Amino acid sequence: TKRVYDFAEGNRYLADLLGGKGANLAEMTRMSLPVPPGFTITTEACREYLAAGTLPQSLIDEVAGHLRRMEAAMGRRLGDPDDPLLLSVRSGARFSMPGMMETVLDIGLTDATVAGLARHTGDERFAWDSYRRLIQMFGRTVCGVPADAFDEALTTEIALAGVPSETQLSPDHLRTLVETYKKIFLEYAGESFPQDPTEQVLRAIRAVFASWNTERAVIYRRQERIPADLGTAVNVQAMVFGNLGADSGTGVAFTRDPATGARGVYGDYLANAQGEDVVAGVRNTVPLQELAALHPDCFRQLTGIMAQLEHHYRDLCDIEFTIERGTLWMLQTRVGKRTAEAAFIIASQLVDEWTIDLNDALRRVSGTQLDHLMFPRFDLSGAPKPLATGVPASPGAATGRVVFTAEAVAAADGPAILVRRETNPDDLPGMIAAVGILTSRGGKTSHAAVVARGMGKTCVCGADAIDVDPAAGRFTVGGREVREGDTISIDGTTGRVYAGALPVLASPVVRYFEGELAPDAEPLVAAVHRILSHADAVRRLGVWANADTPEDAARARRFGAVGIGLCRTEHMFLGERRALVERLILAADDAAREAALAELLPLQRADFVGILQAMDGLPVTVRLLDPPLHEFLPALEDVTAAYARAEALGAVGQREAELLPAVRRMHEQNPMLGLRGVRLGLVVPGLYAMQVRALAEAAAERIRAGGHPRPEIMVPLVGTVQELEIARHEILDVLASVEGAPAIPVGTMIETPRAAVTAGEIAGAAQFFSFGTNDLTQMTWGFSRDDVEGSFFPRYLDLGVFEVSPFESLDGRGVGRLVRLAVEEGRAVRPGLKIGVCGEHGGDPRSVAFFHEAGLDYVSCSPYRVPVARLEAGRAAV
Ligand code: ADP
Ligand code: MG
Ligand code: MG
Repeated sequence: TKRVYDFAEGNRYLADLLGGKGANLAEMTRMSLPVPPGFTITTEACREYLAAGTLPQSLIDEVAGHLRRMEAAMGRRLGDPDDPLLLSVRSGARFSMPGMMETVLDIGLTDATVAGLARHTGDERFAWDSYRRLIQMFGRTVCGVPADAFDEALTTEIALAGVPSETQLSPDHLRTLVETYKKIFLEYAGESFPQDPTEQVLRAIRAVFASWNTERAVIYRRQERIPADLGTAVNVQAMVFGNLGADSGTGVAFTRDPATGARGVYGDYLANAQGEDVVAGVRNTVPLQELAALHPDCFRQLTGIMAQLEHHYRDLCDIEFTIERGTLWMLQTRVGKRTAEAAFIIASQLVDEWTIDLNDALRRVSGTQLDHLMFPRFDLSGAPKPLATGVPASPGAATGRVVFTAEAVAAADGPAILVRRETNPDDLPGMIAAVGILTSRGGKTSHAAVVARGMGKTCVCGADAIDVDPAAGRFTVGGREVREGDTISIDGTTGRVYAGALPVLASPVVRYFEGELAPDAEPLVAAVHRILSHADAVRRLGVWANADTPEDAARARRFGAVGIGLCRTEHMFLGERRALVERLILAADDAAREAALAELLPLQRADFVGILQAMDGLPVTVRLLDPPLHEFLPALEDVTAAYARAEALGAVGQREAELLPAVRRMHEQNPMLGLRGVRLGLVVPGLYAMQVRALAEAAAERIRAGGHPRPEIMVPLVGTVQELEIARHEILDVLASVEGAPAIPVGTMIETPRAAVTAGEIAGAAQFFSFGTNDLTQMTWGFSRDDVEGSFFPRYLDLGVFEVSPFESLDGRGVGRLVRLAVEEGRAVRPGLKIGVCGEHGGDPRSVAFFHEAGLDYVSCSPYRVPVARLEAGRAAV
């Protein structure tokens, strides 16, 4: 198999094989853009290497062949003491993992070639500086030499030389430093720094492959849900130098503002530097516009290329470039990461620019992004004075305690804001756990900014008025001191940092859904309105909501739900009604039980009237009582203790005397698998009848009031059709006895594995199905959601047993198979059977796509997820 592709051979559609970076380098090469020549070793080769632990000889030969071709093309040879070819060896996976894996620059420098480089460039300082960077990068990446060892040597050399910074070190100092670095290398690596350029290349390739499995890469993939087995490609490319003096430099740019979508030239430029220096945020950059004055020709060429790229990819692109002595080189491009807000605005803009159509626009946004846009923002009506202002790198309103390390984030009491001078990949666990990130250095393209945007985490960076002193556990700003543990608020939309906790306001997107803002109120709202309307026009899945109260039902309706897929009735039995339910459960005889039910009836009826009114004209699926009855009684420990206290005082009353045995009787080892669902209906006489009567009477009342109620009755937790038939008979009898009630369909939940596999039988007695995927997931896997998410799930996620909790995204291969089976067998018996899903999965983006595929009629989710489900249902259909 071919494992190596020249940049001229690949293209952007080969990202699975060549990684994103390699595929796009190839694409730019095809577009005749100025890309330093190179080749890409495939991700497949990486997977082979990771499995075998060695590079196959055939791959080594293939690489050698490509190196020879590159030498011929460049007119330079690796290891040539007069004019050496230098290379970068760069990681680049299918999905961008900024800074998570390794890259080694300046490969090919040796004791023999460094002088040639100096002569050829006429810059001795540069040559020795490059050599010491190589020893450091190679040492760290390939041989695991601790970075601190090199850093200390550098600091010492700077002190000895008596200069303010490393840029002032003379060639002689740097030559000494190289000697020191070589000693450090020898000491830690147990060998001399390799002097054979080909060996350097091959070892760097292996190290880049291996960097797929570094801890930070593993953590990042888990966070971003990137599969663990893809592997990275390796790009071997001729070096170009941004650190060859004032007419050289390097930069990063976006074709539009990645935070707002605004058109223009956005980016950072650093003169006389290599790319690493920009991304690390170590030196402060200048805005890209300043390049117009520094190098008008390069600037013009660059903006032309950016326009060309945006046109070509039909999307926002980000790029890395380097200028070597006035010549522009493109080092990377990709469709750029962006904020949720920018994703919607840019997609809509590109439709206006005739670049893409509405289906494309819909594909380019996600439910997760829409969800983000529904988060609250700060209320600035009190005109709070900011402590400092930085770069608005990733929007959102975050309030939390100041912490300075990843460990402190984990230990913090409540939400934490990670405050750093700049971040590096080692800070990743802290960045994931924090609610926000604040740095004092670096621009929109610094590590902190890029990673935060990718995760949708609030970030303000480059707030340079802030002086961060982690050792002292504080930062100072304008003479004011903020200590670890103090609360601050950061606004990722404006870049402002405030002391204390600021009040928050609903997001404009939510206010639009609520009907408080017109669709054209602002660009973001307009873009959401437009794309969501298109999703509504193309989707096949209906979107309903889970709502138990008239308020929730009304909100769901405003948010676009066209029915209630799950109206739970247990919440209606709580609060002050608990006493009534207690009487029902404790009833000694039929008369007492009937009395309790008779008192519950009007209350329950009033609940239903409210919901039917809020959803007038739309279906309302009422689930009969589901949870174990003891949930309505006090806890066994409490009752036992109360009884013991009363007994000690010799004052055991009637309630204590009745309650203790009842609670004991109802106590279950495994309530989830105990007396609940339809089982309650079958063993507690009159309970379901009361609920059904209340619903039918409520509907009749609504009709008399001129309404159009459309109630439906749903029987929970059925395992066999017999249960459903018995319940159904009772339900139909009651319905027949209520005058003026509309026809009320009776259906069932499919939430036990047995119901799913006997769905054909059950369909004979059910007018509709609704998958209860929470229970179906617990029972299929055999673990209870309430017990496992905090216990062994984290370990399971670490081990890769699953990538995401099956309670969050439907397990398509297991639980999903039951769903498909039930749909098929149910509809075989009852063609056109209406089938929906209620439960958290109904609002989960990936699961929505699954339900679309599986042929369901609707998903039902909590009101705030309704817009997300509408969007995802649309995405599933295009
Ligand atoms: P990452 O994926 O972490 O951005 P890259 O492979 O892009 O890693 O490399 C890191 C830095 O090294 C980039 O900023 C880039 O500018 C620089 N670099 C990579 N290859 C070259 C090259 N051929 N010439 C000059 N600089 C390079
Ligand atoms: Mg890069
Ligand atoms: Mg259930």
